[in-house]
Amino acid sequence: MPELSKADGEYFLMQYYENRLQTFVNWPFEDGCICTAEQMAAAGFFYTPESNNPDLVQCFFCCKELDGWDPNDDPWEEHKAHSDKCPYLKLRKPTEDMTLQDQLKLLQAKHLFSLKESIRKKQEQLHEYTDRARSQMLALM
Ligand SMILES: [Zn+2]
Repeated sequence: MPELSKADGEYFLMQYYENRLQTFVNWPFEDGCICTAEQMAAAGFFYTPESNNPDLVQCFFCCKELDGWDPNDDPWEEHKAHSDKCPYLKLRKPTEDMTLQDQLKLLQAKHLFSLKESIRKKQEQLHEYTDRARSQMLALM
């Protein structure tokens, strides 16, 4: 399997449990741990390790990145704690078991989710801009 880039195509592939599971090569939490590769993949995560973040994972759906895992962390609970609006969490069903209706609902939710995210980022930029403008104006007074 060719190395995956963080392009859109990756997110498409990562909607399938088997593809997510395959990314967990050398995942440090195995037997006796709660957050095994299988549990992580089931909860929507794929493995994106970096040299300074050796246990970094990302949700294929909400794109939330999480690291700093403990052997007893429950991937579903952590996912919920850090991204409670993730539509994949609400469905809580493996992609393979989804009906066409589920998939369409999820696709719709994904579009809405990305739209909301980009609006939120624009709002943040706007706030930063107005804060800067305000302090520049105050400096002139
Ligand atoms: Zn998510």
